[in-house]
Amino acid sequence: MNTLRLDDLRASPSVHSAVKLGVPAIPLELSEVFASETFRTMARSTVDLLAEHISDDLVRGLDLADPDRLTALARGLMTTERDVVAPLDEDRLAAILDLYVRTGIQVHSPGAMGRQFSGTLPLAGVVELVGAVTNQPSSFYEAAQLPSVAERIMADELNQFIGWQSGSFAMVTTSGGSLANLTALAAARNKRFPRFWTEGAAGGSAGGRRPAVAVGDDVHYSVTRAVGILGIGEDQLVRLPLNRARQISVELAGPVLDAAARRGLDVFALVATAGTTSVGAFDPLDGLADLAAARDLWLHVDAAHGGGLLVSDEYRHLLHGVRRVDSIAVDAHKMMFVPAPCTLLFYRDAEDSRRPFRQDASYVFDEEPDVYTRLDSGDRNFECTKRPMIMALWVLWAMHGPAVFAGKVDHLCRVTSAAHDVLLDETDFEACHRPEANILCFRYLPPNLPETAVHSLQLAIRNRIKEHGKFFLSKVDLDGTAALRVVMMNHRTTVEHFRLLLAEIRAVAAHLLPHPTG
Ligand SMILES: *Cc1c(COP(=O)(O)O)cnc(C)c1O
Repeated sequence: MNTLRLDDLRASPSVHSAVKLGVPAIPLELSEVFASETFRTMARSTVDLLAEHISDDLVRGLDLADPDRLTALARGLMTTERDVVAPLDEDRLAAILDLYVRTGIQVHSPGAMGRQFSGTLPLAGVVELVGAVTNQPSSFYEAAQLPSVAERIMADELNQFIGWQSGSFAMVTTSGGSLANLTALAAARNKRFPRFWTEGAAGGSAGGRRPAVAVGDDVHYSVTRAVGILGIGEDQLVRLPLNRARQISVELAGPVLDAAARRGLDVFALVATAGTTSVGAFDPLDGLADLAAARDLWLHVDAAHGGGLLVSDEYRHLLHGVRRVDSIAVDAHKMMFVPAPCTLLFYRDAEDSRRPFRQDASYVFDEEPDVYTRLDSGDRNFECTKRPMIMALWVLWAMHGPAVFAGKVDHLCRVTSAAHDVLLDETDFEACHRPEANILCFRYLPPNLPETAVHSLQLAIRNRIKEHGKFFLSKVDLDGTAALRVVMMNHRTTVEHFRLLLAEIRAVAAHLLPHPTG
């Protein structure tokens, strides 16, 4: 590998931006807090603590602390010094960080199957440390040079799996999938109703027709929330029916959209989901792209959960048709295993990335963008100050290549499929669906359980395990009845852990159910 001299990168190599002045020393008490030696000592002991933490592979549940007692404990760890800077106290830091780690969700435990929180790749933490210490907020090239370039590179890398023409598309990072969905829908709204930005809702209705957004019935709440925020109004949501696999039914969608038009709705966007939060269902993007093209709808894909599957040769087919969509939001902090938030919002047409926050592109700025500001994203993302969130993803990619992500995705989806097979062999459990990816919902149905008790039993099981169990699992209502839900996010989780979970569910339920008499 070449070692680079920064001078070689400079636009004007003869100019040096750093000088050393003989300035007076800062006050002693401050200089100790900011001292590099202090940092070195604290960082070393913290790395040791974390290394210990990730080496623990015990099956662990949530272990919820009583919030009042935890507050009291946290208060007790604070310095009482008010008038001067309290001196460094390694023990205090160790106690605070230990509490932080122990009360967190145990994402590195094979028992963590509850939600979409990744068992992150530990190296990501090292990169985040650099970002935190050097504080390089992205959005503007001059403040975050390498992160800005890394965004460009990662967009191209991931586009290899999407298939757009290089140079014609755009990607911005946002602080979470919720914000990415809001941003994409703002772009769609402003494209169809260019006067909405200045005139507000009055600029949206044409001929008495109200702007509306079509979504699948299992859409994430961030999308319906965005519709509220954007002034479309939740009443103008057109919910498209699902098929038995809980994907949007392309056949049934057409008539529902026709009926919406007859009710005076002007549907301008269709939101598909690639990996629903409830069961991990992937809407058929190809069929929906046909529908969107025929009706001139902006097709946005909420791939917050499932976008990471793009890197997997085995599972990429679930996003077939992604080339044809207008925008797609991918949470790298879910299936690409970096710390939250790290979301990538792609637009097929680069021009569209300039629509959410101003109707005209940046060429209306009075200044021509220069070679640096061309990489600014401040005009295209909601945030002004933004974490350099791409760095963990890019560094992992740079270090290990895409195979580390694909390998973990494949493992998680295979384990989920194997867990489904286990359920098929158990007469007292019912699988609610065949998992497409890494989410599986199921119910415990012991013999003689009355129909009316099914819902409450699942809730009671989940609550009991939440408080006392060795696993972290969640629940979801499907067609009005609660189901238990696992999300496989940890490479350590195997089908044997799932069997253990079933055993725990049986044991918990045995306590909850009335004992048979006689
Ligand atoms: C998690 C999720 C979101 C929300 O993303 P955040 O990053 O948590 O804001 C949106 N849509 C789907 C389908 C999700 O799974």
